[in-house]
Amino acid sequence: MIYNIGWMKETLHIRTLFKSYCYHCSNSTTWHLWREKEWFMFFGQKSFPFMAKNLAVCKGCEFVQHVPWLRYLKVDEAETRLSITTEIQQLQLSTKNDIQKRFLLAQRAEHDAKNVPVN
Ligand SMILES: [Zn+2]
Repeated sequence: MIYNIGWMKETLHIRTLFKSYCYHCSNSTTWHLWREKEWFMFFGQKSFPFMAKNLAVCKGCEFVQHVPWLRYLKVDEAETRLSITTEIQQLQLSTKNDIQKRFLLAQRAEHDAKNVPVN
């Protein structure tokens, strides 16, 4: 007997999360919640979801940050949103050297001076 099995990954837009500054695209942006699901395929049909994870995605540059389920369940709380935003910004700045960080922080300060500051 021949079995045809496999895996398929699909990504779905769930909803808008919050507005925040993105150091990757140097702009105020809307972050969206996406859910990535991996499916077990049996004869070309999605049989059951194997794994699902939530992602915060920048609308401007599509920078992606994983949002664990425990945080996802509290994502409407201001404290959780602030911690996700802080984590994203720390991750984005962690790959930069000191000169790049100073430039990006100055660029953001200039941006915030022209616009209403966001988290
Ligand atoms: Zn961005």
